[in-house]
Amino acid sequence: GCPGRLPELKGNIRVLCRLRPGTSSSLVSVEPGPGGTVTTCYRGRHRRFRLDWVFPPDASQEEVFRELEPAVLSCLRGYSVCIFTYGQTGTGKTYSMEGPPEDPGIVPRALQSLFREMGAGRQHRVTLSMVEIYNEAVRDLLAPGPPERLAVRQGPEGQGGIQVAGLTHWDVPNLETLHQMLKLGRSNRATAATAMNQRSSRSHALVTLTLRAASPPRAPGTAGTLHLVDLAGSERARKAGAAGPPRGDPDGARRLREAQTINRSLLALGGVMAALRAHRPHVPFRDSQLTRLLQPALGPGTTAVLLLQVGAGAAQVCACRSPPTRARPPA
Ligand code: ADP
Ligand code: MG
Repeated sequence: GCPGRLPELKGNIRVLCRLRPGTSSSLVSVEPGPGGTVTTCYRGRHRRFRLDWVFPPDASQEEVFRELEPAVLSCLRGYSVCIFTYGQTGTGKTYSMEGPPEDPGIVPRALQSLFREMGAGRQHRVTLSMVEIYNEAVRDLLAPGPPERLAVRQGPEGQGGIQVAGLTHWDVPNLETLHQMLKLGRSNRATAATAMNQRSSRSHALVTLTLRAASPPRAPGTAGTLHLVDLAGSERARKAGAAGPPRGDPDGARRLREAQTINRSLLALGGVMAALRAHRPHVPFRDSQLTRLLQPALGPGTTAVLLLQVGAGAAQVCACRSPPTRARPPA
């Protein structure tokens, strides 16, 4: 059964939004706070979205983490939690997730908070794994050898029993070791240049912590999991300069495939979230490697938080500055 009680978190999907500093208020305006709204302006058309929480551009890393901390700590009571950063390249996904060393983001804060909560007399065994999904290929970012493509399989227990064959799980005795391993994993993450952003990361990066209760009152073996997912940029293929392999661009075909597979995973994630939110009987977990891998962490009794990143680069958010569309000829 489900350990602990935290009814308000059960099967919960929350969508939060963070605005990047420098985002012009003529393109995106917000009403911050709980139940806040984001209004975007696209080609002169305004659309208003209501979210579970909206962080204004000047929100600090600490403020963002404060909203996530209860979910993070629920892993110690055996819950499964997924936190995603979603948005176009350059909107601050990695900033929110990792943050610069002097202003750490969700990952370092979550680890610190978990280890602080566990205290010196730790009652949990903590293991770490880190994978990258790039072009629907799953790779271990912490494997000692050269990164190999891993197979994602349905495990023996049916639904929820997902196995990634050969994935390494590392015991992390302390916070310092954990930070060293994350650094290693990060440096192994593949990045590739696109027309949109030279350094844009075209892959999904998943940090997974498993917290296994080692002593009573929890039965040994009860595990909580925390997935922290820095998703690839959500820009459309066309925008990524990959609308089709441009003639004379030997790399075009690769970039097109890349953009399409990134979209497949993001689309699948959206489909899964929508199905879960609507309590539909069929949830299309099998549509992508990302959702297959996260299936056990997105099922009933779990918590998912999507941090929607919006911002800055005007061209990325809104086309207001592009030439106005031609007026329709009178009928
Ligand atoms: P993404 O991962 O979505 O492509 P990044 O996290 O790399 O975007 O952010 C793009 C740039 O904006 C980086 O230079 C980053 O430091 C900066 N940035 C993003 N969010 C913030 C923020 N909240 N405060 C300050 N700088 C930010
Ligand atoms: Mg990034």
